[in-house]
Amino acid sequence: MAEHHSVIIVGAGLSGLYCAWQLQQRQQDVIILDSRDRTGGRILCADYNNTCRFDMGPAWIWPHLQPRLQQLISQLKLNVFKQFTAGDLLYEKSPSAIERYSDQSSHGYSYRIAGGCQSLIDALQSTIDTPCIQLNTHVQSINQKGLSIDAQHDGKKVTYSADKIILALPPRITQQNITIEPGLSKHIIETWRAIPTWMSGHSKMVFIYAEPFWRDQNLSGEVFSHHGPLAEIYDGSPADEKYYALTSFVGLSAQQRQQMKRDQLVAACMAQLKRLFGDESQRILDIKIKDWSQDKNTATAIDLTSPAQHPHYADDMPRGFWDNKLILAGSEVAREHGGYLEGALESADEALSLC
Ligand SMILES: Cc1cc2nc3c(=O)[nH]c(=O)nc-3n(C[C@H](O)[C@H](O)[C@H](O)COP(=O)(O)OP(=O)(O)OC[C@H]3O[C@@H](n4cnc5c(N)ncnc54)[C@H](O)[C@@H]3O)c2cc1C
Repeated sequence: MAEHHSVIIVGAGLSGLYCAWQLQQRQQDVIILDSRDRTGGRILCADYNNTCRFDMGPAWIWPHLQPRLQQLISQLKLNVFKQFTAGDLLYEKSPSAIERYSDQSSHGYSYRIAGGCQSLIDALQSTIDTPCIQLNTHVQSINQKGLSIDAQHDGKKVTYSADKIILALPPRITQQNITIEPGLSKHIIETWRAIPTWMSGHSKMVFIYAEPFWRDQNLSGEVFSHHGPLAEIYDGSPADEKYYALTSFVGLSAQQRQQMKRDQLVAACMAQLKRLFGDESQRILDIKIKDWSQDKNTATAIDLTSPAQHPHYADDMPRGFWDNKLILAGSEVAREHGGYLEGALESADEALSLC
C-alpha cells in the first residue's frame, strides 16, 4: 500500500527544504525524498578538526543582488562576513611568468555565511519537522496514475502517492534518472536534457593552514592561472579564523581529473602553490577535495563538459504539468537567478505559487 502525502518533494537541497518549510507553515502534510544520506544537495561543507567548516560547494552570496537569500538569512538569524580580499592578486601566465596586481579583486562584493553555507541548511532544516525528510531514498519513477512515486530505500522498493509532487532537483538529473509515465513531450525532454546543471562538472580543493602566510606577503590569496592545475584560488578562511584556507577550483577537465590519481593531482597543486606563495605554502594541515562531476546525484555524463560561462536559464518552459500536479523547482528552472542559491529560492517561490 502506498504511503500518501499531500505534497511529495523530490530533493532535499535548498529549493526542496525551502518548499517544505513554507508548505508546513501552511499546515500541509509534506514529505521530502532524497537519494543522498544527507540534506543540502550541492551545499556541502568539509569539516576540519571538528572546529571549522569549509565550503566544498557554493560559498559566495551577493546580498545586494539576492533579496530572497538576504531575507532568509536574516529570518534564520545567520551571520555573513565579507570575503577577505586585501592585498595583491596573482596572475599566473606560465610557471615562469607570475604577475602581481593591486586592487584587482573580483570578490569585492562577495560575502560568505559564517559556519559555511551548511549553516543555511542546518538552520532551515531545524524549522522543518524532521520525520518528513526521508534520506537514502532514490526516486526511480513517477506515474501520473494515482500520482505515485516508486523509489529505492536501503535496497528495498517503496511506493508513495500524493496530491502534488514537486521536483526540486536539476531537470537534467530528472531527465536522465527518473522515468515519468506517461512520458512528457519530446520537446520537454530535450529541453530538460539541454539545461546544464550549474557547476556540476567542477572540482573544488581546499588547502588548510594554521596561519594565513599569504596575507603577510600582502597577497589576498586570489589567483587566476592559465597554467594550473588550479585555475582560480581565493582566501577561503572561515569567519572565526581558527584555521585558514586557500580554496580553489581545479582547471583540469572532468575527463583529465578522472585519469589522474589523487596523489598526482595533489603533487601538481602543491608545486603550483610553491610557485605562487613560496615555501610556507607547503606547511599544509589538510587538503579537502570534492569532485562534483563524479557525484551521480548532481552530475550526469553530459555534465563532464562544463559551460564556459554562466548559462542563460530563463525560458518559457512550463513549470507545471498534469494540471499542476507535477511541479518543477530547483535553481536551474529559476527565471532570473538560475544556477545560484538565490535561484533555488526563486524557483521554490514559483513552485509554491502552483501548489
Ligand atoms: C562547486 C560549486 C560551487 C558553487 N558556487 C556557488 C556560489 O558561490 N554561489 C551560488 O549562489 N551558487 C553556487 N553554486 C550553485 C548552488 O550550489 C546551487 O544553485 C544550489 O545549491 C541548488 O540547490 P537546488 O535545491 O536547486 O539543487 P540541489 O542542491 O542540486 O538539490 C537537488 C537534490 O536532489 C537530490 N536528488 C537527485 N536525484 C534524486 C533522485 N533520483 N531521487 C531523490 N533525490 C534526488 C540530490 O541528492 C539533491 O539533494 C555552486 C555549486 C557548486 C557545485
